[in-house]
Amino acid sequence: MRDSKPDPRAKYKRVILKLSGEVLRGGKGGDPIDGATLSEVCSQVKEIHELGVQVCVVIGGGNIFRGLNGEKRGVDRTTGDYMGMLATVINGLALMDCLEKLGVNTRVQSAIPMNQIAEPFILRRAVRHLEKGRVVIFVAGTGNPYFSTDTTAALRASEMHADIIMKATKVDGIYDKDPKKHSDAVKYDQITFIDALKQRLNVMDSTAFSLCMDNNVPILVFDLNDKHAIRKAIVGEKIGTLVRN
Ligand code: UDP
Repeated sequence: MRDSKPDPRAKYKRVILKLSGEVLRGGKGGDPIDGATLSEVCSQVKEIHELGVQVCVVIGGGNIFRGLNGEKRGVDRTTGDYMGMLATVINGLALMDCLEKLGVNTRVQSAIPMNQIAEPFILRRAVRHLEKGRVVIFVAGTGNPYFSTDTTAALRASEMHADIIMKATKVDGIYDKDPKKHSDAVKYDQITFIDALKQRLNVMDSTAFSLCMDNNVPILVFDLNDKHAIRKAIVGEKIGTLVRN
């Protein structure tokens, strides 16, 4: 068991780190789970864990399978969504393995029971793991089709009373318009949920977004490719875009 007091530099005590499956991919068209990329991501998680921050990871599955893509291949949406949820389990086990090799204790909790490979999601047990200094990796999304892992992050953040969702992506924040199409696009350092809604900015899908807004869970959108990005975010360096009430 470790001293659960976080480093005074840490701005947040308990965070939900939402990693999209694609952050594990090695470059464009590379392996869905690339060893070096996985190791880099896990080193970043280790950095904030060492600051004494309680870390939960919600991992996506988009590098392997998405329900909506399944539909294009003739797979029924519900079946495809379960395939997507299983994809998150594969990614979660990869994270578990890599983090443990880096000396970080983890527990994987699944929203779909699969006792041989993960604990079931039990809120109080997840909190206890955090208190004992373990990183908790949530897999299998919410366990329900027609949802996303962003919604899972919003749900887990609400029930675990996390201080923030840190949404690691491949873009460095939220812009007033698409920066790929408009050279004059401006990045927001901060924006309110209401303004993001009014401007139809695509922060998260609408279910995830309204859960965060209604339960007062701020979201930090930031670029994981930035070196030490997660640590910078935790110690309050100016990085990404913060969405809050
Ligand atoms: N999914 C689902 N219910 C959930 C979470 C995820 O059905 O509660 C499925 C859905 O098909 C989704 C896939 O799992 O496309 C992978 O999750 P997501 O697309 O959120 O992953 P990411 O884009 O973050 O990699």
